[in-house]
Amino acid sequence: MKAKKRFGQNFLIDNTYINRIIDSINVFSNDLIIEIGPGQGALTKRLKTKDCELIAYEIDEELKPILDSLIDASTHIYYQDFLTVQNIATSKEIVIVGNLPYYITTPILEHIIKLNLNPKEVIIMVQKEVADRFLAREHTKEYGYFTLWLKYFFEMERICDVPPKAFNPAPKVMSTVLKLKRRENKPQIDINKYQQLLKDSFKQKRKKLKNNLTNYDWSKIKEILTLNNLSEDVRAEELKEEIFIEIVNKL
Ligand code: SAM
Repeated sequence: MKAKKRFGQNFLIDNTYINRIIDSINVFSNDLIIEIGPGQGALTKRLKTKDCELIAYEIDEELKPILDSLIDASTHIYYQDFLTVQNIATSKEIVIVGNLPYYITTPILEHIIKLNLNPKEVIIMVQKEVADRFLAREHTKEYGYFTLWLKYFFEMERICDVPPKAFNPAPKVMSTVLKLKRRENKPQIDINKYQQLLKDSFKQKRKKLKNNLTNYDWSKIKEILTLNNLSEDVRAEELKEEIFIEIVNKL
């Protein structure tokens, strides 16, 4: 079957990397695995060997003849855009796996957070450049709103980088397998306010924090900065997560 560009179809064909993904997944038989974008089933076939309930969401109905052969009592395949999934009712621990289309990596992760699935692990293949952004440290240009937003929910680990030749068709860029583990010690905050603060702080990255946060009570923010020996002229990219948490709590 011809791969469809519009669905970001780059099928994994190299067993070395399929094994790296499968081996990095920690599941028990009473867990639920959710696969996003099973494609031609390269990962799905191997996920079935984990002996858990498995639900896969594939947007491309033309893959039905291939994927339907994988359905059994514990494997369900839905031909649906994952971004339109409103609810996944389960009391099981969830592990999410996906070799994601690169253009919707961030919306998919945002959707996972919005669905409140609280997965214990998310193992995803993303464009290497995007992985670098997710894993970025402060004082780098990659560090931004989404780095901090993901960090609030997950501890992130790079499993391996994957070259273009591991896929058919080969993408133009390097890829990276990331493991996102549920963070158990999340700071207690109002997460809607926190998300808005992060978005606003990085609205224009080159601007000073105070110029991005003109709608906030700057005297309170200044107090936190001073307490942490930081200048009033800092940019958001210089601030660690702890400082943003202190700020949102103060506000
Ligand atoms: N998992 C397979 C593999 O590793 O070979 C396929 C990976 S391919 C990069 C991405 C897959 O996600 C494609 O099969 C594509 O049709 C599917 N897809 C794209 N957008 C999707 C969406 N919004 N929801 C569900 N599946 C999607």
